[in-house]
Amino acid sequence: MTRAINFNAGPAGLPLPALLRAQEELVDFEGTGMSILEHSHRGKAFEAVHNEAISLLRKLLGISSDYEVLFLQGGASQQFATVPMNLLPAGQSADYVITGGWSEKAYEEAQRIGTVRIAANTVENKRYKRIPKVEELELDDGAAYVHLTSNNTLFGTQWHSFPKTKAPLVVDMSSDILARRLDISQFGMIYAGAQKNIGPSGVVVVIMRKELIERGRKDIPVIFRYETHAKANSLYNTPPTFAIYLMRNVLAHLDSIGLEAVEEANRKKGELLYGAIDELADFYKGPVEKESRSLMNIVFNLPSEELEKRFVAEAQKANMVGLAGHRSTGGIRASTYNAVSLEDVAHLVEFMRSFKAKQG
Ligand SMILES: *Cc1c(COP(=O)(O)O)cnc(C)c1O
Repeated sequence: MTRAINFNAGPAGLPLPALLRAQEELVDFEGTGMSILEHSHRGKAFEAVHNEAISLLRKLLGISSDYEVLFLQGGASQQFATVPMNLLPAGQSADYVITGGWSEKAYEEAQRIGTVRIAANTVENKRYKRIPKVEELELDDGAAYVHLTSNNTLFGTQWHSFPKTKAPLVVDMSSDILARRLDISQFGMIYAGAQKNIGPSGVVVVIMRKELIERGRKDIPVIFRYETHAKANSLYNTPPTFAIYLMRNVLAHLDSIGLEAVEEANRKKGELLYGAIDELADFYKGPVEKESRSLMNIVFNLPSEELEKRFVAEAQKANMVGLAGHRSTGGIRASTYNAVSLEDVAHLVEFMRSFKAKQG
């Protein structure tokens, strides 16, 4: 078997041990004579998997009992709507920090629900190449919450520390959750689609202060209230059982490595790839400002679009997939999530050197 070196942005590569475990357990889960896919979400077998996934997440991120951990559906995109539906009452407004395509979408969706303000926007010529400085943020201390996107999957920027805000900080962490250690107490709420860094598509992780859940609006449909899912331990209706099971496998694998080692590996991967971009700067150009560079989505350009196309095609022949930039931005994007190893990145860097040498 040859596994592809997978730089896809999402759904993305998964750690091999998590997949092999699923393969081994697929037909007969723990001697029950059934696959986990065939178990009731109300049965003991699934419930144990579900609760293990929650406790692994709590352990890995050091989540205190002040917070609820929820597994929801509808993608991170649905959270763009359910966050303001729950947390933005009439007569109040919410602050949005715009640093890329996903935060634009979150802002636009919130506009449909209530009053929103832009606390900062780093767009220049339709592109984003940096995270705003703390002094640039025009925050409203009376805001219902402040929303930001911790890692900009499309443009390759990342918050390396978070601003202190009076209003609860709500963060879309879809593309960098569990890439580093975090002090959870600085957040009111974190949400993340699993398919970038911690699992397959189909499940969204929500980590939310209990007090914020309680404050949620009651004049919205029951299914969209965080309170509904918190009261039912995310088993109000049928959850995406297989996605939760597979995420459990990924979390167990991460726990066997430890989050500190995961963080260290991500730092080394970034040093290696950005090091090569800087060293070969007469050919590869990184558009992102250095202090804002993402360790999860590393973007760069070649001298022409034609060379970029050839780069992607030849990389594919060399078993490296997913290197084309997002359709809205072009260029090259290497998504270097947790499941991408330092060795994989070294492979890419070697390819970059030889591709440049061949072009003369
Ligand atoms: C991928 C992504 C989303 C959208 O996720 P869906 O699960 O497709 O709704 C939202 N925010 C960020 C930061 C993302 O990377």
